[in-house]
Amino acid sequence: MNGKGSRETTARTHLLDLVRHVSLAADFPEAARSLVDHLWDLMPCDGISVMWLDGEHLEVVASRGSTAPLRGLSLPVSQVGSARAALDGWRPVAVAHTAQDPSWQPVPGEGQVKSWLGAPLRGDNWALGLLEWTSLRASRFGEADVTLSADIARSVAPILYRAHLLDEARQQLRERMEPPALRDMPAMSLSAALRPVVDEALEFTKARHAYVFVQPAAGQRLRCMVAAGELRQRIEGLVLRGDGTLGGWSVPMQGRSERQRAGPSDREIMAGLGIKRTLSLPLQVDGRQVGMLGVAEPHRRGDFGRDAIRLMTQLASQASVILEHLYRRVPEQDQQHYQAVFQSSSLGVAMMAPRGEIELCNPALVNLLSTSDQALAGHKMSEFLAEDDVQRFDLALEEVGLTGQRRQVDARIRSTWGEERHVRISLSKAHTSLETGGNLVAIMEDITALKILEQERVDHLSQLREKNAQLQELDKLKSRFVSNVSHELRTPLAVIKLYATLTRKGRPDKQAYYLQTIEQETHRLETMVENILDLTRMDREELRVNPELFSAEEIIVQVLQVYKAEAERRGLELRNHVQGELPLLWADRDHLIQLLTNLVDNALKYTLRGGQVWVAARVLDESGQRCLEIAVGDTGPGIPENEQEKVFERFYRGSSSGPGSTGTGLGLAIVRELMSQHGGRVVLQSEVGKGSVFALQFPLYGGGIPPDARGQEDNR
Ligand code: ADP
Repeated sequence: MNGKGSRETTARTHLLDLVRHVSLAADFPEAARSLVDHLWDLMPCDGISVMWLDGEHLEVVASRGSTAPLRGLSLPVSQVGSARAALDGWRPVAVAHTAQDPSWQPVPGEGQVKSWLGAPLRGDNWALGLLEWTSLRASRFGEADVTLSADIARSVAPILYRAHLLDEARQQLRERMEPPALRDMPAMSLSAALRPVVDEALEFTKARHAYVFVQPAAGQRLRCMVAAGELRQRIEGLVLRGDGTLGGWSVPMQGRSERQRAGPSDREIMAGLGIKRTLSLPLQVDGRQVGMLGVAEPHRRGDFGRDAIRLMTQLASQASVILEHLYRRVPEQDQQHYQAVFQSSSLGVAMMAPRGEIELCNPALVNLLSTSDQALAGHKMSEFLAEDDVQRFDLALEEVGLTGQRRQVDARIRSTWGEERHVRISLSKAHTSLETGGNLVAIMEDITALKILEQERVDHLSQLREKNAQLQELDKLKSRFVSNVSHELRTPLAVIKLYATLTRKGRPDKQAYYLQTIEQETHRLETMVENILDLTRMDREELRVNPELFSAEEIIVQVLQVYKAEAERRGLELRNHVQGELPLLWADRDHLIQLLTNLVDNALKYTLRGGQVWVAARVLDESGQRCLEIAVGDTGPGIPENEQEKVFERFYRGSSSGPGSTGTGLGLAIVRELMSQHGGRVVLQSEVGKGSVFALQFPLYGGGIPPDARGQEDNR
């Protein structure tokens, strides 16, 4: 039993470990990889793979081993019979002999497979994927493996599902942030498309120079794609910052680095070419400024005039239309789609400034933090976390800012109604071509349920460990008990057997002695068996106490009478010190006999020849609680102080029980148990070399009977 128990415990520990590792993975592919690696240790075989269901195909996301299909393979579910059965049947399927299974169809890489085990990964009520184990050996997977596979699949499915969702959300966010950028096309065709505009600008404004600068992609500098006029060749290819010093507008470039700000201004660059006056108009795509159309003069005097400005405005909008075709855009429909995902995602998503101030977030995050949009904007995310988690979170934030790597932080938040929730926050840099100046993205998911599950598992495991330890302890006690008991039973049995033979074949004049011995040993045997049975009954809580009102005195006399001969045989003085009339006792008569028998028996057994054993009784009145104390004393060896508590434990045999002494170590355990059943207790006073006194203290009640038993007594 222990072997199996500990095997189960080990498997559970491994499973817990596996769940922890998989849930710590930074993204879905890593989670799948980590899962395969841990499965490899948990259930060794020749091939393991994790497959994810995409429509009607199972895609192999991670695999390991010689018989596993290659990662990236996409298998039509309809063609994989056994997988289909596992997915449709909602439970693991094992194929013991692939050669004998008509539905078995090997997929590339699985030609050698002799046995197969597949466990479906399930969402609430849809299939997510499949965990697959393969072996070169037939009948590799037994019933225990099937159960374990179901356990594993059940534990990891929600984690993989969340990781998958998270990856999708990240992807969508990335795409949503993508601003327009020039298609990959030769600069030649771009300038060819814009040339007529520049030529027209030059001709109608009668300016000396005309040009179009565009920003090829977000965050990049303005580049002159086409120019006309005297300085055409020098201006074409020129790079500007778009800093607003030409014509009073600028390309929005928030968060530019200091390096980009340094150096000459656009006006200074133009001045370097001998250009003193410019008229520049913005070119826009999707309402976003992407470039400028301008004309320029080498002198400062005069202005371009209203007509020129009107014409240039028209030309700029023409150029914008041309550019719109040349820029790649996220289609409108998709944008709405992303917006919908962002708004309705169950994961909280936020865009944060490098120091953690929230700039943009979705309703799920507002909900998770149980606050309002207004309350969130401009506030740091760490303000909403439990105090203990703030430092860790800030550190992770800083690391992401510095290294650009993704970090994951588990933290707690407190809702407005005071309830504590656990969240997992995934932090990464905002990877967009837009210059975001080190903005960060946080994706927050509620993992309270997972934490509770984890805690339950940990509790369960520690309970199992505790139980296991208890069982082992009990097991040891039991073995000791069995060996003690069989030894103790054997002694009287051997004596009985011997004397029975003697009765038949021995000396006729000793017949009476033989029979007396048999009688004595039978009695001893009987007591022992009785003790064992009592204890078993106590354990099963089957011991019944049948109390009645009687005089303890007659029982004391009766027990002493039984032991009179025994005491004489041992050369001991056995005395009854009970004087005067005792109050009536409310107790189980048979139990009192058993209690006194155990104590007198011990006293006689452990006291040396010439000693004394006595029984006394008195009424005690301790702080209003009256009780009747019946004490059994002796002038025996006494019990050392460090054993005085232990002698009441089961099977404990003290130092006074020498090698020759009989006993099972149960007597005093029974005494203590019986006394507690009577609402009383047993008190031991002993000194080594002087003797011992075991005092039984029974509570006394007004009128003799306890109040809660009065009705019963009247009915008797
Ligand atoms: P057993 O007598 O079968 O060993 P008990 O439970 O009755 O088991 O007693 C436990 C131990 O307490 C004994 O082994 C003995 O060492 C000690 N003991 C009990 N009664 C006495 C006594 N009257 N004097 C000295 N030692 C005693």
